[in-house]
Amino acid sequence: MGAFGRFMVTITKCMPRFMVAAVARRYVAGKDISNAVAVMKRLSAEGACFTVDVLGEEISTLDEAQFFIDEYDRVLDAIVEHKLDANLSIKPTAFGLLIDEKIAYQNMERLLKNAANHGIFVRLDMEDHRVTQSTIDIVLAMHEKGLTNVGTVLQSRLLRTSEDIKSICTKLGGSADFRICKGVYLESEDIALTGYQQIVDALNSHITQMLDAGAYVGIASHDLPVIEHTLSELNDRGMMSSDTDPRENAGPSRTGKGPGYEFQMLLGVRGNVRRKLAKQGHRTRIYIPYGNQWYEYSMRRLDENPDVAMHIVKSIFMPWTNRR
Ligand code: FAD
Repeated sequence: MGAFGRFMVTITKCMPRFMVAAVARRYVAGKDISNAVAVMKRLSAEGACFTVDVLGEEISTLDEAQFFIDEYDRVLDAIVEHKLDANLSIKPTAFGLLIDEKIAYQNMERLLKNAANHGIFVRLDMEDHRVTQSTIDIVLAMHEKGLTNVGTVLQSRLLRTSEDIKSICTKLGGSADFRICKGVYLESEDIALTGYQQIVDALNSHITQMLDAGAYVGIASHDLPVIEHTLSELNDRGMMSSDTDPRENAGPSRTGKGPGYEFQMLLGVRGNVRRKLAKQGHRTRIYIPYGNQWYEYSMRRLDENPDVAMHIVKSIFMPWTNRR
């Protein structure tokens, strides 16, 4: 991030709340679940499915976890009531992971059971390096308990990711179910890659590694070289928009999922690319964040990764680079 980028972050952070709200409207579905349902109903017509995120993350007291427990129950009810093709994305720290691991496990187990009763999958979003291992451990522990409707996210910028793929696939076999992304948190050089091309190369090689391992792969990127690499890998495996996953080592077919893979994108970002993929027959999933904490969420993203500010500035002043 150069001087101009840092300048844009400072400007964005000084903007009055109503101006930030006008920008956030594109990326956040609204304040409550009814807003999120309306957005999902509208975008269902574009052939997309969804993953719903209640905004908010690291809590400072365990009492705050109750808000997320109750709100995610409301999301499950809404998905069922409105017959939406949607699953959940949750942040383990919002369930207390950094305060009391045992209670956080109980909170998440309860939600997973409730989701499993409705045949709904739960994705554990990956947060910063403090919780990488413990987030993976939750997934492994839940699978051991028979709760297989859960998978995590891995971040290609982290140097450990290839080893994580290996060990998760060894333990879960074909039940391994990943979202793979670059990683939004800027981590230090001793644990992470920092250059754009290095991160793209790592992401591409992780996608290949996951497909080779027979895992289910959610490719979470708007970056064209990554999407092109994925399409070429799918083509080589005969997985292009087919109804069944032809890989011999693939896991069981999963309800509400594509044949071994899906493309995942954020609400408001590169809709034209997503619609094109959907038209070609690929499963596309949109990440739908909603909640009262939209302002705090937007500001935290800017602090963690100023590139986000540049994407937003670009989408305002050069809308052709990021069409809805
Ligand atoms: P980039 O090169 O950053 O983006 C390509 C183009 O897409 C940009 O030029 C721009 O036009 C557009 N674009 C990308 N991001 C934005 C944005 N925020 N606003 C506006 N335009 C944008 N990271 C984690 O660390 N943990 C997670 O659990 C996680 N979950 C994710 C779930 C989904 C569905 C997606 C799509 C991303 C997730 N991420 C997560 C974020 C991810 O790690 C990247 O930071 C983010 O996707 C940007 O990388 P990119 O590959 O899209 O490529």
